[in-house]
Amino acid sequence: MSDTVTDVIVLGGGVIGLTAAVRLQQRGARVTVWTAHDPEEIVSAVAAAVWYPSHTDADPRVLRWAAATLAEFRRQAAAGVPGVLMRETRMLLRTPVPAVPWWAAAAGDVRLVAGVEPDVRELHFTAPLAEMGPYLAELRRRITEAGGRVVRRRAAGLGEPLAEAPVLVNATGLAAGALAGDPAVFPARGHVVLVDNPGLDVSVRDEENPAGVTYVHPRRTDVVLGGSYDVGRTDTAPDPVEGAAIVRRCAGLVPELAGARVRAERIGLRPARHGGPRVAAQAAPGGGRIVHAYGHGGAGMTLSWGCADEVAELALGPDRAT
Ligand SMILES: Cc1cc2nc3c(=O)[nH]c(=O)nc-3n(C[C@H](O)[C@H](O)[C@H](O)COP(=O)(O)OP(=O)(O)OC[C@H]3O[C@@H](n4cnc5c(N)ncnc54)[C@H](O)[C@@H]3O)c2cc1C
Repeated sequence: MSDTVTDVIVLGGGVIGLTAAVRLQQRGARVTVWTAHDPEEIVSAVAAAVWYPSHTDADPRVLRWAAATLAEFRRQAAAGVPGVLMRETRMLLRTPVPAVPWWAAAAGDVRLVAGVEPDVRELHFTAPLAEMGPYLAELRRRITEAGGRVVRRRAAGLGEPLAEAPVLVNATGLAAGALAGDPAVFPARGHVVLVDNPGLDVSVRDEENPAGVTYVHPRRTDVVLGGSYDVGRTDTAPDPVEGAAIVRRCAGLVPELAGARVRAERIGLRPARHGGPRVAAQAAPGGGRIVHAYGHGGAGMTLSWGCADEVAELALGPDRAT
């Protein structure tokens, strides 16, 4: 690598940027992460952060990234990495399906079984869940422990970091639309409600609920209730009517939730992209290399480690150690 203090600047301190930074460091690069926001202000902090390739196309790249991410989270859960849990999952299927879905190849243990409700079958599988507060803090800790830096700094454009390092990873989520001049990026607003956990430890998803997408993801002391997926909607203020409807749908799905104390509501804008995530290298006009890594929509946690492997390869070349 060059003899500058920083080999790679990662623009973006969300799950995509931080995971990429860890992988780049493991490959020997000296990394600095720039983030325009504090950790709790970003969409990665809002995520239910359960492994599931939500709103993604049946794309071989997605399958590869999702499988690699699942394997890494399984390893982390077994190693006791802060915030990482494994959850048995029941997913209701309201429309008949001939077989397990395309993404089952990445999930490994997916079983199609008769459901509790008549005419509703269920998929059962085990999925990782990341409690994003402690998990993102752990990623930042790993980066600094390995000699990297995470700094609060907003770039006015992609040229600014490239003036300070030969390689830039553009992991700016929704902001990448403007920064990279990519009209395919769009927001998909999501709303979750956090309630006290009455003793649940199984995730339940009812994505085809006619009243709206519904999911229940128990964490250690609270439960994430969702949800919504509103393309193009950008308001992020609390919406009590929508929040109450989410709680009602979730209690209909999991009756133990009735009366659970509401802790908080969270709303975030998923960085979605027509055509799926952009993970690709580009020669910068003034010299240097840009590796784009954005547009992960509703699946940033799900694809994070697989994408980080690819980002490291695009930034540093093939890993000769593997
Ligand atoms: C309600 C909800 C539920 C979700 N549930 C799940 C789930 O269960 N599973 C899952 O996999 N995904 C889920 N997601 C999606 C997930 O949150 C996103 O895919 C993921 O967080 C995107 O991460 P990111 O790092 O690309 O973006 P972000 O977290 O938005 O991070 C972008 C970073 O770029 C920085 N940045 C932007 N512009 C600049 C600039 N000019 N200079 C410097 N820094 C800049 C920001 O400050 C920030 O640090 C959910 C999302 C929502 C809203």
